[in-house]
Amino acid sequence: MSATMRSAIVIGAGVIGSSVAYEMARDGWSVTVVDKAGAPGQGSTSSSSSIVRFNYSTFAGVVLAWESFHIWLEWRAHLGAAQGEHVAEMMNLGVVMLDVPVMNIAATTELFQRVGIDYEIWNSKDLAARVPGIDVGKYWPPKSIGDAGFWEDASESIGALYTSDGGYISDPSLSAVNLADAAKRHGAHFRFKEEIVAILKSESRVLGVRLASGEELTADVLVNVAGPWSSALNKMAGVGSDFTVEIAPMRQEVHHVDAPPGMESGPMIGDLDVGVYMRSTPGGGFLVGGTEPECDDMQWIENPDQANMSRTQDLYDAQVTRAARRFPDLKVPPVAKGIAGVYDVSSDWTPIYDRSELDGFYLAIGTSGNQFKNAPGAGLIMAKLIDYVEGGGDHDTHPLVVTGSHTGLPIDLATFSRKRQRNENSSGTVMG
Ligand SMILES: Cc1cc2nc3c(=O)[nH]c(=O)nc-3n(C[C@H](O)[C@H](O)[C@H](O)COP(=O)(O)OP(=O)(O)OC[C@H]3O[C@@H](n4cnc5c(N)ncnc54)[C@H](O)[C@@H]3O)c2cc1C
Repeated sequence: MSATMRSAIVIGAGVIGSSVAYEMARDGWSVTVVDKAGAPGQGSTSSSSSIVRFNYSTFAGVVLAWESFHIWLEWRAHLGAAQGEHVAEMMNLGVVMLDVPVMNIAATTELFQRVGIDYEIWNSKDLAARVPGIDVGKYWPPKSIGDAGFWEDASESIGALYTSDGGYISDPSLSAVNLADAAKRHGAHFRFKEEIVAILKSESRVLGVRLASGEELTADVLVNVAGPWSSALNKMAGVGSDFTVEIAPMRQEVHHVDAPPGMESGPMIGDLDVGVYMRSTPGGGFLVGGTEPECDDMQWIENPDQANMSRTQDLYDAQVTRAARRFPDLKVPPVAKGIAGVYDVSSDWTPIYDRSELDGFYLAIGTSGNQFKNAPGAGLIMAKLIDYVEGGGDHDTHPLVVTGSHTGLPIDLATFSRKRQRNENSSGTVMG
């Protein structure tokens, strides 16, 4: 490290941590990434459904997703990866978001128009014509499969908001590995299998971290990108007293079945009408995840390390049966297949990309099950934010606005402030 080089420790080598590391290393920081796992992308990134869509409830959220989408499209160039390097792929298959009261189509399309995202509004006939095998019944509100109402025929039909852009990233953990390798090419160091157990600080500023081994690492700034463990890190740093949104880990499951006929390479389906999202997989499979329907108990947990990381038969039955309501030809094998994972949920399902009240301690947390897609842009805005604040900028009173290089549009980071007014337009679900 040169005498003038500023140093950073990034806490967590998930897809967002690795992206922050890459952008900061590119900007000339001496970056060390510490992760208690053995490789990049082994935390919540590893269980991600890695869906890419643009339906968010805030303008900044939509711009960030659209900017990031363009980076995914040019992934190899973004990374500076050689032709032979195995890199993740943007599966650009489109997004069908069924029309439900908690996701206002008029508000979303107004944001799409401002950002320049092409969309189509489909009635139920369009939906039936464009999505093979779909049942276009409107079943709102979602019901538990033990509720007799779940099996009742629909009396109305449903439409959708469609974007031909969007889909999913072929391999979420690989994309974190790609970013880590790119960061390494710019001099970043990764320390795996090292757990941070304390944040070292003076009266007013961070000094570094202590590892479980007892070793202490010093740095000018620390970035908390610890995914569902972020609150534990905030506690170690003694930050959070000025947050207006709460952050807590929530257990989730995503189930795996064969794609129904015709949907092997179909668009992603957001179906809050029955309470699931679905997407195809590269091998003809179909992932089914939940959208926090009110009829289900949410699985808030204290400690992500103690979460049951196996799928359960009950939730499998519930989610896959809901998917089969929408795709009647979907086969529901009796034995559950799928994974469990943990979201880092903020009370308005919008992330915090911000500084904290402790100088030098930065936050990329509260990603609420919906920020995988935004990892490329999140790395970029965090690097710019840290540069701004370390250069003397008062982000709390004069929030940084970053201009997206693809859209030329402003991303007002006030939207992601730890001290924001709660986002009242949030769907109150993973959709943000
Ligand atoms: C089931 C599931 C489905 C999802 N689906 C989607 C989706 O379809 N689309 C989308 O956009 N988003 C989705 N998400 C959200 C997205 O995957 C996450 O927002 C994203 O992966 C978070 O990345 P991260 O780098 O912030 O955190 P993580 O990937 O969780 O990484 C945090 C890292 O911090 C490390 N760490 C924690 N504490 C310590 C410590 N004390 N010392 C050292 N290391 C530590 C952990 O080992 C971990 O590797 C989903 C998430 C889940 C769980």
